[in-house]
Amino acid sequence: MQRRKFVSDSAKATICILAAGSLLGQQSCSSSKQSSSRNRYYPQSPGLTQQPLPYNYKALEPAIDATTMEIHYSRHAATYTKNMTEALTAEAPGITHLEDLFASMSKYSAKLRNNAGGHYNHESFWRWMTPGGKAMPASLQTVIEQQLGSVSDLRNQLMAAATGRFGSGWAWLVLDGQKKLQIGSTPNQDNPLMDLSELKGYPLLGVDVWEHAYYLKYQNKRADYLNAWWSLINWEEVNARYQFAMSL
Ligand code: MN
Repeated sequence: MQRRKFVSDSAKATICILAAGSLLGQQSCSSSKQSSSRNRYYPQSPGLTQQPLPYNYKALEPAIDATTMEIHYSRHAATYTKNMTEALTAEAPGITHLEDLFASMSKYSAKLRNNAGGHYNHESFWRWMTPGGKAMPASLQTVIEQQLGSVSDLRNQLMAAATGRFGSGWAWLVLDGQKKLQIGSTPNQDNPLMDLSELKGYPLLGVDVWEHAYYLKYQNKRADYLNAWWSLINWEEVNARYQFAMSL
């Protein structure tokens, strides 16, 4: 048995090596990886309950004030989780991972779409920020430079997507199906994992541009909020999601 498994794994490795360089070959190589026990779900992906904030309400000051954080987490986000739970119970009681729900989101109600999106997006958002920010790993910086030009280009494109989103929504950095970085935005509480989203991909980083995220401190100055938010980004979390998305 052990020898047979070794031969089988070696054969897969050989196929991957032979296929290297062609897009078709890379896809067949990754599908052979998928057939093993690789996890389909990001280990730190939001579950079905609201988790404690990983820092206190005032920890992100001065970029984001404590009152905004408290209202945002304990009222807005908590309400999405509560309403998601109701809608899941009514419509999709078998769902254990939101990724599976999002993949067929178009089959469900607006209530479930808005609240499951709201829950997932906020649970992720709290973890994309950390007091003082965390530096970008060099390997991620290299990928960004290869695909987008520079970190400044990424920032400019993300800011343009975030300020250009009319009304409420989110701006995103995603890894698309061709394993390329893409930047865009979604309306309301949609996200790029949803089958009905125009922007599709695995979310590496997202920013909330609803007025409730910034209005108390920044009023209508969304761009000022976004500039302050940039300093809070936890690039280690972004990199962990990138590594995971590359393995899918
Ligand atoms: Mn929000």
